Amino acid sequence: MATIIVIGAGVGGLTAAALLAQAGHEVTVLESQTYPGGCAGTFFHKGYRFDAGATVAGGFQPNGPHYLVGKKLGIDWRVHTSDPAWQVHLPDRAVTFTRDNADVIAQFPLSAFFWDEQSVLADLGWSLSAQGLPFPPTNTAEIMQIVKVGIRNLPRDLRMIPFAFLSTYQWLALRGLAEDEAFVRLIDGQLLISAQTTSRGANALYSATALDLARQGVYHAQGGIGGIAEQLAESVEAWGGTVLYRHRAASIEVKGERAIAVHVEHGIRGSKSTRMHADFVIANLTPWSLDDLLGEDSPAALRRETQTRRYGWGAFCLHLGVRADRLPPNFADHHQVISEMRGALGETRSIFISLSPEWDASRAPEGHRAVTVTTHTDVQAWWDILKRDPAAYEARKAEYTDKILTNIERAIPGFSSAVTLTMSGTPVTYQFYTGRHMGMVGGFPQTSLFKARSPRTGISNIRLVGDSIFPGQSTAGVTLGAMRVAEDALRHLPRPTARVSQPKTPLEAVQP
Ligand SMILES: Cc1cc2nc3c(=O)[nH]c(=O)nc-3n(C[C@H](O)[C@H](O)[C@H](O)COP(=O)(O)OP(=O)(O)OC[C@H]3O[C@@H](n4cnc5c(N)ncnc54)[C@H](O)[C@@H]3O)c2cc1C
Repeated sequence: MATIIVIGAGVGGLTAAALLAQAGHEVTVLESQTYPGGCAGTFFHKGYRFDAGATVAGGFQPNGPHYLVGKKLGIDWRVHTSDPAWQVHLPDRAVTFTRDNADVIAQFPLSAFFWDEQSVLADLGWSLSAQGLPFPPTNTAEIMQIVKVGIRNLPRDLRMIPFAFLSTYQWLALRGLAEDEAFVRLIDGQLLISAQTTSRGANALYSATALDLARQGVYHAQGGIGGIAEQLAESVEAWGGTVLYRHRAASIEVKGERAIAVHVEHGIRGSKSTRMHADFVIANLTPWSLDDLLGEDSPAALRRETQTRRYGWGAFCLHLGVRADRLPPNFADHHQVISEMRGALGETRSIFISLSPEWDASRAPEGHRAVTVTTHTDVQAWWDILKRDPAAYEARKAEYTDKILTNIERAIPGFSSAVTLTMSGTPVTYQFYTGRHMGMVGGFPQTSLFKARSPRTGISNIRLVGDSIFPGQSTAGVTLGAMRVAEDALRHLPRPTARVSQPKTPLEAVQP
């Protein structure tokens, strides 16, 4: 049995931890906050349970990542479908995304063939990911595994190959859709959220799956998106692992190019310090945060990556309390407002709005709904202004809040009159609560499959997990990454003595 330390109780860290605990290893998860989930966590404030960032849960459909992990670990997910998936408010129309895509095709009839093609490619993508593809491969064994899966699925896979080399915009152009400004804008809005870049940047094959969320079905987790991480944390403990909250990893001790221990701060304001032995470390962190924890021992390649890689997006968010009786009738739970047809998205020009479901009374005081509103933003600008002039930082927060509420009001008249509580957060806030460097969130833009970030760190017994590694962001995405990392760790660790098939708490009994 090996001793495994997982740094961070985000969805990626907890999924890997639960799988490794189930396999019979001694697993401890360190989490600096008092609750799990990180960007997909839910926190209490004045009677509300607000989602910190993520709000839309996908991947619970048969063969979806959460479904597969739940089946393996015996988790009976407390999730409910949310239909329609969301409504997009473009400057000239509103488009509703549903499982059958009916409204999108009705409003853009020429896109029907594109969506057929997208669904075929996405089905192939889901089927490959369900077979546990170690992508990108990091050694010969993984290359062979991919080749084997590829050969097994021939000739279906051949269909995918050309799309691996196209941008999504090139794909749209091939299908005669690039001239349709509104359609391209609609797709750009979806890709910004799911691939962290728009059609000109996003790889076509990746986009096929990223655009599949509504078709596969979206879900609300009971009690907020943090419910997913809470169930994963329960599973870690049920399989004999430990989750320690208010325990911050302060550094990783390395000897002879292997990690041998993690130094942990805990107690009141981190007043206590403990050295925890580790045979293997899984870092649910960005490469920058891992580099910090390694200090002088950071491998040259990781150090270089943190010095040369372009920063990813951050988020500006509003947490709103709203009066339910002031909302329009039959109001969907999720909306995207794209306020301009041209120009770069982000910085309030694309806004995602999610309301707690009406049926979940635990989320808000009676007669109210908890709302999370987010827009992509450049992280550096917030840190620069904070450093230069804290008053200007506060003014910029107020300006973003006003712009967002104005843009929402224009698309959804009457919304502002429902708002009874407003709280704003910037990348500075995200860094504080999630420990993510500069408050960068959502991983890296998925521009090329050939540049995908693997879990490798340059230290043989440390792996990254979370949205910095392929396939990147979303609770479903980091779950796929975590499944791959857990398998990789198991290959490197001594075989544990078999874990009893019955978990400690009354989860459904499953065979590891
Ligand atoms: C605004 C916003 C909206 C989003 N919307 C969606 C959505 O609708 N649907 C969706 O699926 N995804 C969405 N995402 C993306 C999704 O939330 C993330 O991709 C995913 O949750 C990231 O998981 P992770 O495993 O990388 O961990 P993270 O969420 O990064 O969590 C890492 C954890 O590690 C802890 N930690 C960090 N440093 C230390 C340390 N030194 N010691 C101990 N603990 C530490 C942190 O406190 C945190 O809990 C959104 C993200 C944001 C920010």
